[in-house]
Amino acid sequence: MSRDTHPTPNVTKRADLHIHTHYSDSTSSPEEVIAQAREAGLSCIAITDHDTIDGIRPVRDAARGTDIEVIAGVELSTESGGKDVHILGYLFDDQNPALTKKLSAFQNARLERARQILEKLKSHGIDNISIEEVCSRSQSQAVGRPHIAALMVEKGWVKDIRKAFDKYLAEGQPGYVPKWKQTPSEALQLIREAGGVSVMAHPMITNKDALIPKLAEEGLDGLEVYYPNCPDNIRHYYEGIAGKLGLIMTGGSDAHGKAKNSTWLAKVTVPYTVVENLKTAAAKKG
Ligand code: AMP
Ligand code: ZN
Ligand code: FE
Ligand code: FE
Repeated sequence: MSRDTHPTPNVTKRADLHIHTHYSDSTSSPEEVIAQAREAGLSCIAITDHDTIDGIRPVRDAARGTDIEVIAGVELSTESGGKDVHILGYLFDDQNPALTKKLSAFQNARLERARQILEKLKSHGIDNISIEEVCSRSQSQAVGRPHIAALMVEKGWVKDIRKAFDKYLAEGQPGYVPKWKQTPSEALQLIREAGGVSVMAHPMITNKDALIPKLAEEGLDGLEVYYPNCPDNIRHYYEGIAGKLGLIMTGGSDAHGKAKNSTWLAKVTVPYTVVENLKTAAAKKG
């Protein structure tokens, strides 16, 4: 067999474009993320924490000396018609003042909301969880219900995270406090102004298909078609929508470390050509 002297073609390079760290609600450190990405043989990863970009630089630091490319990402919490819609942003300028200002406002709102949730829990007898403990679960201020749920389990108030949501933290339950959210359109604008591209996350979970063509008209660049635990027929359905609207078909694992055992880093990957398509789209906006 002759040795192949050509550079590895891009088709063999794979990327996971949806990964959380302990800067939001995953248990994984930057070093763990990089170790897992190496183990899986990935060429590229995107860090997409909820409403924070604080984890990007530490993951880039951890990737130094490896061949892994770390691209900037974020998963913005938005709301449309009373439903949660997650918008992924990629390849933006992570120093953009409007973006950093908005994200820090979001994080402050999350911190205040966590305080309000604890107050509500206290009035229902759950009186031994402090805001300091909640904050110690995350490396940034992007604290949320999963952090509180984990503490409720550890302190024996509920048997598992699911119960914590079902009994206390889910909408309609006594500990529920809504999040301060922006609209999907505002998220698209924020990402675009920071030079990035936007992708609607996990449409099969969001279940707001009527929004997809509307956002496509407003400049949405992609649809997260490849997502864990999604049946083939549903995936084909979203591939059809993305194809029709000219959206880039992206994908990733939505790994949360030990905080979510239905998925793990590199459970879903896409060819590196998807990253190239996102870069081309971002360059066009430049
Ligand atoms: P937050 O951003 O604080 O509102 O928390 C939202 C996160 O909580 C979601 O991204 C899920 O990971 C998690 N979550 C929401 N509902 C449930 C549930 N019923 N059981 C377990 N986790 C949930
Ligand atoms: Zn999460
Ligand atoms: Fe999400
Ligand atoms: Fe996510």
